[in-house]
Amino acid sequence: MKNLISLVALIACNSIFGQVSLDYYLEADHPYDQSIPQPQTLLGYEVGTWHVSHDKLVHYMHRLAESSDRIQIENRGSTYEGRPILLLTITSPENHSRIEEIKSNHIALTESGADQISIEDQPLVVYQGFSIHGNEPSGANSGLLLAYHLAASNAPETLKMLDELVILFDPSFNPDGLQRFAYWANTNKNQNLTADPNDREYNEVWPRGRTNHYWFDLNRDWLPTQLPESQARIKTFTDWLPNILTDHHEMGTNSSFFFQPGIPSRVNPLTPDMNQKLTQKIGAFHVEAFNKLGALYYSGEKTCKRRYQSFPKAFRAHVSQRLRARLCNAVACVQA
Ligand SMILES: [Zn+2]
Repeated sequence: MKNLISLVALIACNSIFGQVSLDYYLEADHPYDQSIPQPQTLLGYEVGTWHVSHDKLVHYMHRLAESSDRIQIENRGSTYEGRPILLLTITSPENHSRIEEIKSNHIALTESGADQISIEDQPLVVYQGFSIHGNEPSGANSGLLLAYHLAASNAPETLKMLDELVILFDPSFNPDGLQRFAYWANTNKNQNLTADPNDREYNEVWPRGRTNHYWFDLNRDWLPTQLPESQARIKTFTDWLPNILTDHHEMGTNSSFFFQPGIPSRVNPLTPDMNQKLTQKIGAFHVEAFNKLGALYYSGEKTCKRRYQSFPKAFRAHVSQRLRARLCNAVACVQA
């Protein structure tokens, strides 16, 4: 788990600093399975050189699933522009062979009277989602590398992690927005990167890539769940009741990196105290990763624009009181 969190933090942070080689993201001497295709073999470029379009992201995720017995892929629906709403289930082959049993035991453990179920061989469930705001692209782009790492790494800590986790991997929370943004940025970027914020690359035309096809901010649809992207997301969440949910945004070039638990005064009183304690522990891994890079970050502070809290407030209202009680598992969410 530690490595997973660190990897995400390292990858997400990198977009601040521009182009680097794959060795920056992934250890050069790491024991990777050579039969698993690296992202650039399908993209035609190193991750971070261009913004990934949703089309290419879908292509790569399917190729990974074909190549790895650690990944099952499914399409949970279609966006208004006809893009698939993918979900990858990533875990060890052994766990895949009993995935329904794991799921039913996991759900049973959220109810009272489940004392007979041993938690010793019961994996935790983590739901990871990327770039709900399509023009916050480091999420979806880092997801390419994270999915590759999980599919290809044969390091003992990775194998242990795959034994102990079922990862519900949602590579793009907002396919139409990601596609719209990637088109704009790739069309307008210069051969030599420019730091001028007035450059056309950084000034998308309306409606920009933040929203979905109908210009709706999907991060405001956790409660109404009116849109197909949200309906797929919430169904996965309620089907599995994950122990942890991560929601990978981006803060932009004029801000350092933010992660939860955020400012304490913004925590809803209905959020279990344990949620905050466990979220803080996850944050400690981010701190370690960022310190290693010498990168700036913040967590428990107020910004001039808004304040940050854990667990989307709209979703908090969406779940019933009974379901909320079930969610005494740690639910950590990064939102911006
Ligand atoms: Zn965002």
